[in-house]
Amino acid sequence: MAKPVLLTVDDDREVLRAVERDLRRKYAGNYRVLRAGSGQEALEIVRELKIRNNSIALFLIDQRMPGMSGVEFLAQAITLFPDAKRVLLTAYADTDAAIAAINDAGINHYLLKPWDPPEENLYPALDELLEDWEAAFPPVFEGIRVLGNRWSPASHNIKDFLARNHVPYQWLDIETAASDSDVAALVHLLDEEETRSLPMVILPNGTRLRQPALADLVEHIGLKTRATEAFYDLAIVGGGPAGLAAAVYGASEGLRTVMIEREAPGGQAGMSSRIENYLGFPSGLTGADLARRAVVQARRFGVEIISAEATAVRVDGPYRLLQLANGAEVSCHALLVATGVQWRKLDAPGVERLAGAGIYYGAAMTEAMSTRGEDVYVVGGANSAGQAAMHFSRYARRVVMLVRGSSLAASMSQYLINQLKATPNIQIEFNTSVVEAHGDDHLEEISIHCTVTDETNRVPANSLFIMIGAAPNTDWLANIVERDELGFIYSGPQLTRDGKRPSGWKLDREPGLLETNVPGIFVVGDVRHGSVKRVASGVGEGSVAISFVHQYLSKVV
Ligand SMILES: Cc1cc2nc3c(=O)[nH]c(=O)nc-3n(C[C@H](O)[C@H](O)[C@H](O)COP(=O)(O)OP(=O)(O)OC[C@H]3O[C@@H](n4cnc5c(N)ncnc54)[C@H](O)[C@@H]3O)c2cc1C
Repeated sequence: MAKPVLLTVDDDREVLRAVERDLRRKYAGNYRVLRAGSGQEALEIVRELKIRNNSIALFLIDQRMPGMSGVEFLAQAITLFPDAKRVLLTAYADTDAAIAAINDAGINHYLLKPWDPPEENLYPALDELLEDWEAAFPPVFEGIRVLGNRWSPASHNIKDFLARNHVPYQWLDIETAASDSDVAALVHLLDEEETRSLPMVILPNGTRLRQPALADLVEHIGLKTRATEAFYDLAIVGGGPAGLAAAVYGASEGLRTVMIEREAPGGQAGMSSRIENYLGFPSGLTGADLARRAVVQARRFGVEIISAEATAVRVDGPYRLLQLANGAEVSCHALLVATGVQWRKLDAPGVERLAGAGIYYGAAMTEAMSTRGEDVYVVGGANSAGQAAMHFSRYARRVVMLVRGSSLAASMSQYLINQLKATPNIQIEFNTSVVEAHGDDHLEEISIHCTVTDETNRVPANSLFIMIGAAPNTDWLANIVERDELGFIYSGPQLTRDGKRPSGWKLDREPGLLETNVPGIFVVGDVRHGSVKRVASGVGEGSVAISFVHQYLSKVV
């Protein structure tokens, strides 16, 4: 944590140096001592510290300065740091002015120059003030801050991206400036252009990124975007449970392993508010926890994790070459596709336009806090929708699940159905679907159609979470691997039809169990045709695939 600041201001250079020296001598262990030669210069420092979210414990200010007096400076500085203690340095002749300032500018103390010896005339007074300050001062958040508008899709994307990559951040909603003095103070420091170009990400060193693209943010939060090695034994595309398991097993068994993930490790599982059926966690665990643990484990075995999207693959003899969206290429012997599935879009007027502005795909856990006291609508009847409803029920006034079918039995685990029934603020509406979303810059109402009554009702709604199934996104592999009509990738015995091996297959063996029609390209998890769509099965396939990778490598290397 950055040390709180003691800021001293005096236009007399010698006095300034002497105060600074005395402050450092006694307080440098716990505080950062900064100095300024004028009120104007000091205000610049104060503003910068506010933007960095640093704290100021004490101002030690000369009263008589040209341009701006000590009291005038303090009147401005304390609007940004109202809790800082204020000490005025005065000459003997100014005592009356100083006493008046105690009332006008809330000065805590005034000291007469010269203060020698400081042990008697300076430190006792400051010690007392600093003790009071420390006792009352709440610790300041010093990580990344995101300033934006709740209804802005770009703000949502940034928050979601940071949260899923386990980067702690503080969210500052510009709409709350009237009631939150911290937000108000920050907004006050931005120029007009900056307040028009939200969201803004403020890094701990004070750097302000206006409307950053996620690709730009990646660099600033310490994620790697390019491979460090020229060549890998194994490259994994997708960092969900299947890809992470393969990474852990691959690297732990000595393979030089790289994992490429375009959003955040954890995949769909990372979005789950509570996974209750994963072996070994009797009271469940959040998807974020599972992902975080797996990433630590993978890194411990030396897996390199790259934040990038794979956009194409090329086969060149024994080499598999992956093209990334950022222009880089990754070269390997064995390639494992673990790209899972993505949410299917809801096709209704208004939905696409308001996506990110009250309408979200998936559970969007970063938005849960904002739904406090509101009504939340969840579309879908599978486990993911059930988990999301349970999660939001802790914040929202009421959660309404809109289910197309007439029961949950076929699509949801019984333990979740029981939980939903036992939660008083969850309401399930069967035979319903959202047919239109309304609102100008954010969701305000939805139209719900009931197939039993054939009626459509328009109801107020600020938050709609859509979880209506998912589809693989494998077009980038279209000309390389064989896929079914929905895009799921065939593997192993699925490729041998009427006793015939896949076309182009030249080896004198059948494709291995999790191998595609291209030798050395494997597929695991939800993206695989015929897979069981569960965390445990993805983890199982990812782990098992490594033994097939070994078998393959033993023949090519
Ligand atoms: C909200 C929710 C709750 C769930 N709850 C449970 C539960 O309680 N129990 C259970 O067993 N299962 C649950 N599931 C299902 C489970 O999460 C999935 O079956 C599992 O995550 C599939 O793992 P995967 O690794 O195959 O794919 P995914 O988890 O889908 O991961 C694929 C990853 O690949 C990345 N990717 C895709 N394309 C590219 C590309 N071109 N380049 C780079 N990266 C790419 C994606 O960003 C993603 O991170 C839940 C799913 C959801 C959505």
